[in-house]
Amino acid sequence: MRLLLLPLLFLLSVARSSGAETLRISAFSSVLAEIAGRVGGEEVVVTSHVPAGSDPHEFEPKPSDLKRVAKADLVLLSAKHLEGYVGKLKEASGGRVPVLEVGAQLPSLWLESESKDARSEDPHWWHSVENMRKAAKVVSAGLSGARPEKKSVFAANLEAYTAELGDLQKWARGKVAELPRDKRKLVTSHDALQYFAKEYGFTVYPVAGLTASEQPSSRQVADLLKTIKAQRVKAVFAEDTANPKVLQQITAETGAVLGGLLWVDGLGTGTAGTYAGMMRHNVATIVDALK
Ligand SMILES: [Zn+2]
Repeated sequence: MRLLLLPLLFLLSVARSSGAETLRISAFSSVLAEIAGRVGGEEVVVTSHVPAGSDPHEFEPKPSDLKRVAKADLVLLSAKHLEGYVGKLKEASGGRVPVLEVGAQLPSLWLESESKDARSEDPHWWHSVENMRKAAKVVSAGLSGARPEKKSVFAANLEAYTAELGDLQKWARGKVAELPRDKRKLVTSHDALQYFAKEYGFTVYPVAGLTASEQPSSRQVADLLKTIKAQRVKAVFAEDTANPKVLQQITAETGAVLGGLLWVDGLGTGTAGTYAGMMRHNVATIVDALK
């Protein structure tokens, strides 16, 4: 056994001595963790702090998360006001670890809030494949900044990942094309699919607001029931992280069916555990239920 281990140990020490130590990446989004892993390849070790299938709006870093951040080489955030705890992360690292706010470099969609005197920035940018391509580029630049001598490796990985996103986009556009434009109406638990809607020509009628925990007023529910009937919406969609009782009320009162479960707040589980898998699940679920 000892003899067999020797060559491996030797290889490891060679890698270390040539300065090729892996970059430690702390990603506060399962989507960004995938991007960092794919673009960084062998050169990175990624910690995904917000578990897939959990609610990122409610996430708060634990002491163990902050400890990990303090030892990281790069922190990745979705930005667009999703991580209210960004100050805590910067404090934990004493400002020594670069924090890359990926979403800040992507175009924003703004939503009118209830009070009408304020707008909110929609943080769910990853539901646009075009945004994902841009985000991968941003992450690649961030990794190259942290490890300039590996720039060509990151560029090659980026190219391969971008090609996959291109295939995904082609498939998604083909699938959405099965659905006539006047049927592209999305009733979802919370307002998380505006970027998706813009990319594929849907209109969103959210039950709740930007976060899954926000509850609609009875007036909002009444308006929504009217809209669903008037627009003849065939199906409504539940979410991975929230499935309010109000959806049951909606299906009971409008005759719309529950179209299935969508992964809206990050990667999912099972086959939805990758970005492409999550998108394929969402697009297929939506199109097949509304057809
Ligand atoms: Zn959300």
